Amino acid sequence: MQDQFGRTIEYLRLSVTDRCNLRCRYCMPEEGVNDIPHGDVLRYEEMLRVAAAACRLGIRKIRVTGGEPLVRRGIVSFIEELTKLPGEPEVALTTNGLLLADFAQDLKAAGLSRVNVSLDTLKPERFQELTLRPGLEQVLAGIEATEMAGLLPIKINMVPFRDFNADEIVDFARLTLEHPWDVRFIEFMPISSDLEYTSSDGLPMKEIQQRLLAIGDLEVLPREKNSSGPAHMYRLPGAKGRIGLIPSVSGHFCADCNRLRVMADGRVRGCLFDNEETDLKAVLRGGGDDIALEKLLVAAACAKPEKHQINKQDFLSPNRRMHGIGG
Ligand code: SAM
Repeated sequence: MQDQFGRTIEYLRLSVTDRCNLRCRYCMPEEGVNDIPHGDVLRYEEMLRVAAAACRLGIRKIRVTGGEPLVRRGIVSFIEELTKLPGEPEVALTTNGLLLADFAQDLKAAGLSRVNVSLDTLKPERFQELTLRPGLEQVLAGIEATEMAGLLPIKINMVPFRDFNADEIVDFARLTLEHPWDVRFIEFMPISSDLEYTSSDGLPMKEIQQRLLAIGDLEVLPREKNSSGPAHMYRLPGAKGRIGLIPSVSGHFCADCNRLRVMADGRVRGCLFDNEETDLKAVLRGGGDDIALEKLLVAAACAKPEKHQINKQDFLSPNRRMHGIGG
């Protein structure tokens, strides 16, 4: 599947739920979260139909995300079904890690290939302050269980904030000395106007890099073959793991974007930062056939904008939240 700018679309991000067991303050409001009504969330059979159509069109990798994907009942069997779709796509998971310790072995047995864990602080009280829930120990136990299960390499994604956790950038980077993990720093994306965090709270990539200088010279790693990932990768001398920088805002990677996003209620977006959507539900629930479904997916790919507009002044919108779109 190619879009109108010649990009090959082969990566599907599939949000299986907009529900989450954390309330990260930069991602969702504490109260008044407009959950998608249960009846509007696609059933697993419907998601599998969509994913199968996408695989027939050339999708090679599926990332299961949310909300928090591990809170949706039946997720392990669903992931197993995804791995058996046409072309046997690589299936990965993005999670906050709270439930990973319970799931890691089963996920591995189901054929999951790897896990990204979102973790913004290594301090328990800060964890609670940010996510409005306790749970740092559970997340760390989840990461350990993931390692034991052989779901490697583990990626840890951290979003640094100026007055909150920027002082932990070095601690996170040092984790790579002892652990074979990819620790990735991601620029905060100010995409929603109804949250307390704004663009000035996030740390731009240049400042993240400056803070990393404190631990010494980073070896620049060559871009991996077949890597469509947006991270610039580095290694500390002698480290087991790697450090990644993802300049989501300051250095967009749109020219290489190969993604399509399916939200839990069957809407498809070609770009996280665009409000253009294609709705699959009418076809899925109105008796439409697979050809109709494929046509809509191709249309969504064609509607991918050339570049995201996050730096434009009037970009902010109250309904553009990561937990709803599928981060
Ligand atoms: N619950 C899962 C998790 O925590 O990984 C998947 C969904 S969560 C929305 C996915 C990722 O989006 C998390 O790593 C979170 O840090 C990130 N995220 C949410 N809002 C963000 C924002 N405005 N800018 C950058 N990253 C954001």
